[in-house]
Amino acid sequence: MDMSVGSTTGEEAADFFGQTLEQANDAVVIIDDRNQVVFFNAAAERFWGCQRHEVLGSDVSTLVPIPIRSRNDGETGVNKIIGTSRDVCITRKDGEERWGAMAISKITLQGRILYAAFFKDVTQTRLKDIEQRLLSMSVNASSSATCIVDADGRLIYINDGLVRLLGYAREELLERSPQMFFVADTPGESQADELQLESILSGQPHEACGLVSKRNGQRLWVQVCSAPVFDAKGRIGNIVIVFTDITRSRLPEVLQDKVIGALLQEQPLESVLTLLCQEIERLAPEVVVSILSVDPQGLLHHLASPSLPADYSRAMEGLPIGPAGGSCGTAAFRGEPVLVSDIDTDPLWADYRWLAQQAGVRACWSMPVRNSGGRVCATFALYFRESRKPDTTHAHLIMTGTHLCMLALEREEARQSIRRMACSDALTGLPNRSSLLAEANRSLAEVALEQGELAVLYVDLDRFKQVNDALGHASGDELLQVMAQRLRSVLRESDIVGRLSSDEFVLVLPRMNATRVTAFLERLMLTLGAPADIAGTAMIPSASVGVSLYPSDGQDMESLLHCADIAMYQAKRTERGGFRFFLEEMDQLAQQRLQLETALRQALTSDGLHLVYQPQIDLRTNGLVGVEALARWEHPSLGTIPPAQFIALAEECGLINYLSQWVLCEACEQLARWRQSGIRVPSISVNLSPINFHNLNLAALIARQLQRCGLQPADLCVEVTEGVFLCSSPTTEQTLQDLHTLGVRLAIDDFGAGYSSLGYLRRLPISELKLDQSFVEELEHDASCRALSEAVIGIGKGLSLRVVAEGIEHAAQRDILRARGYDVGQGQLFSSPMPARVFGQWFVGWHS
Ligand code: C2E
Ligand code: CA
Ligand code: CA
Repeated sequence: MDMSVGSTTGEEAADFFGQTLEQANDAVVIIDDRNQVVFFNAAAERFWGCQRHEVLGSDVSTLVPIPIRSRNDGETGVNKIIGTSRDVCITRKDGEERWGAMAISKITLQGRILYAAFFKDVTQTRLKDIEQRLLSMSVNASSSATCIVDADGRLIYINDGLVRLLGYAREELLERSPQMFFVADTPGESQADELQLESILSGQPHEACGLVSKRNGQRLWVQVCSAPVFDAKGRIGNIVIVFTDITRSRLPEVLQDKVIGALLQEQPLESVLTLLCQEIERLAPEVVVSILSVDPQGLLHHLASPSLPADYSRAMEGLPIGPAGGSCGTAAFRGEPVLVSDIDTDPLWADYRWLAQQAGVRACWSMPVRNSGGRVCATFALYFRESRKPDTTHAHLIMTGTHLCMLALEREEARQSIRRMACSDALTGLPNRSSLLAEANRSLAEVALEQGELAVLYVDLDRFKQVNDALGHASGDELLQVMAQRLRSVLRESDIVGRLSSDEFVLVLPRMNATRVTAFLERLMLTLGAPADIAGTAMIPSASVGVSLYPSDGQDMESLLHCADIAMYQAKRTERGGFRFFLEEMDQLAQQRLQLETALRQALTSDGLHLVYQPQIDLRTNGLVGVEALARWEHPSLGTIPPAQFIALAEECGLINYLSQWVLCEACEQLARWRQSGIRVPSISVNLSPINFHNLNLAALIARQLQRCGLQPADLCVEVTEGVFLCSSPTTEQTLQDLHTLGVRLAIDDFGAGYSSLGYLRRLPISELKLDQSFVEELEHDASCRALSEAVIGIGKGLSLRVVAEGIEHAAQRDILRARGYDVGQGQLFSSPMPARVFGQWFVGWHS
């Protein structure tokens, strides 16, 4: 600095100069050419923390660690530090260190060369700088990725972590907007915590997750934390943004959230899988996802591949899996992942290469998807448009994708089995009532359209209840399953079979007329009637079948089923194990039956029934040995209904227990009354139905009845047909034993008429056999009847049983039987069954 102050003298100038410097804000130290301090202003006193008299005249080196006047000065004439500014660290008197920005000027004053050093206190800025440098170093060194944007949203700072994370060069990013690596979410799908640049730039502290795209296009899930930095005026100066790569943990989560969400919304399988593909493609735009199903026959079917050309998916449809079946076919075949990084050359793709080339895919990584049973039921594949190997993100994607695909398929499987369960009968697997009717209606509509014919078969198992009671429900179930299987086995593809209720099945046979259905029925009955082994018991099952035909018997399924039901009922009544076609009159019969059932209920509750009594005579002494009570029903308008009819009806409609109790009560009371009035009737026989023996309380009930009437158990004989042994159930045998223990006698009615193994005679406590009427009837003319009656008496005598011959109408019959050794006879020859009052008169007459 050269100073010449125009009009003033040198002294004045120096003084003026001195005063100016004295008042300067900066510390000013002036030295002479011997380095001695010649000037030290007030600011300098503050800066160094000392008084000027302490430094004036001393060497400047006590103040500043570096020379102000260059040593080379003299030689070169150039003072290198003049005109420059540098930061120097000084030590104050109190020992504290301060930083000053030092600028040096050379002054020539009154011929003297002086050096003036100006110090600006930069300690604060300096400390801040250091802090910032350290901060920046540590930020760079840390693994997290950080950037700073300015208030205009431009990147002004990017740390090494972010450079590493995104793969961009720092220069590519600086001054740009973070927009360039943020991936906007799929439109129409905003999630509260999704990454949004606007919210970050709004200056609110913000935390969100989202996708960013690397320079190479690979996408990453990041967690972003942003915080604003405010300037002195409280305005947003900068925003610091920290990114954390959470791809590894978040990727499965994000996919899972989306897919599970769709599953919870009950979206159809195809949409769920398509969504899965789309989501993966959004996370990794370089891949194309494809999901194929593998059917049990080993054929591939398209499930989802939204980004593959439709032609490609169509061409894959129905292709077989195999050892060289492209990536997916091979993966399904081997049951392990298959990675083909170059479709163009890989032999696995030999047969399908052209397809992939057309679709523009060159690499494919496929994973088998197994169902809960372990079968490969689908493949999950990532295709690439270039020949390449997958990276770790792809590995995450394929693992997660395969898992989610399996979940979706399992859900679908469960859904289908629920649907199947809802529509089918759990025991037999056949369609249940509602789905049977739906299918039948569909089939009928088709037949009606083509003006064809259709047959409806109502199949009812015979004696199912007995099997259930005798062998237990598990065996009943087994029988139903066997029969269901047999029914299924006779059907054509268009035929329908379903289970209507416990032992009732319905077959709907389209395009069947009366002739063809008869041939079918003959085959059906043979199939159903084949011997079966149910729970270790050999059994000949049978079913009664009713048939109705469309269009002759009805126009809709409801009436066709009704007609078939009526025909089945008729079949059951006439011959079990047979079939009947519906006839107009059957409908009337069915109506009559319904009417009769109502009437019987009424009769039972309003004394509509009564008993008649038929004497049993000792064939040797002609004395009365007992009476058989027989039920009678005289209906005011329907007339006399034979017992065979109303007993069967009572058995069918569940009234038989009630009826039998009434008979027992009535018969016991009558016997007691006769005895009271001196009519000595030795015993009374009551007929019971086999069904009555399913009641374990029967013996107790009879005991109470006898006691009530003051009778002995031996006064009562219970007659039962061999039908009771047909299905020898533990309950029946128990009841028979209980009756025997009680002391009630047991007679086998109609002996010889029914099928019977005679084994039970040994096992069960029987007292009496009643030879079937039919043998007596033909006794005089039929040698075989005579032989059989002889056999029966042989059996009876051999087992010490009383043998009663029924239906004796002529003396000749009586004589033959008596000659053969029969003890007791019963029949019109002695008396027809008669009401109690008449019996009293007969009794008196007989003994006179
Ligand atoms: P059942 O037990 O064999 O009864 C004997 C049947 O032979 C009776 O027929 C009787 O009226 C008839 N009868 C008697 N004497 C002669 C004769 O000389 N010649 C011929 N041809 N028949 C004779 P009913 O009363 O019509 O009974 C028929 C069947 O109905 C009975 O056969 C029995 O199985 C059943 N039944 C009758 N009442 C009852 C009852 O209260 N409970 C049960 N569970 N069944 C009964
Ligand atoms: Ca009888
Ligand atoms: Ca009989």
